[in-house]
Amino acid sequence: MAEKTAKCKTLLDLEATDCRWPVGDPRQDGFHFCGAQQVLGRPYCIAHWQMSFVPGKSRQPSVTAALAAATALPAPAKRAA
Ligand SMILES: [Zn+2]
Repeated sequence: MAEKTAKCKTLLDLEATDCRWPVGDPRQDGFHFCGAQQVLGRPYCIAHWQMSFVPGKSRQPSVTAALAAATALPAPAKRAA
């Protein structure tokens, strides 16, 4: 019966490998952390880790573009005529 709420963890309940994604408002009752299994080396579970970086929003386009240009840019063809 208590298994349903087993994943809702407070800061004190969090263990080293628990997802630290905050759920709710810290100033209100019911605030807790996700508490699911972390992705190895990440503070969040797989779902929240993916949510933590929204593609196209928080990325650094300059780095991405530079990498793409460095690896995929064909040498400019200098064709006479
Ligand atoms: Zn999570």
